[in-house]
Amino acid sequence: MVTKRIPLRKCAGCGQMKPKKELIRVIRTADGAIEIDATGRKNGRGVYLCPDPECFRKAEKNKGLEHSLKASVPEEVYRQLEEEIKRIGQ
Ligand SMILES: [Zn+2]
Repeated sequence: MVTKRIPLRKCAGCGQMKPKKELIRVIRTADGAIEIDATGRKNGRGVYLCPDPECFRKAEKNKGLEHSLKASVPEEVYRQLEEEIKRIGQ
């Protein structure tokens, strides 16, 4: 039996550790844009979230995104990310 090491990441909303590929990665790119990294391969400071709007709202409330990305996240970016997470979570 082969046991594979599954890389775990912490959701910025609920704080649970989950396999990286079950989470959504949000990154801040070199030019300061905050976006969802669907491929998981983009460079930049990243933060992970469950594909669950509830976790997103928690992360918004506790400023988890701001802390992890070390940047302020404008309201319109939050709304845009929330829409994308809703789509992904469906
Ligand atoms: Zn979560």
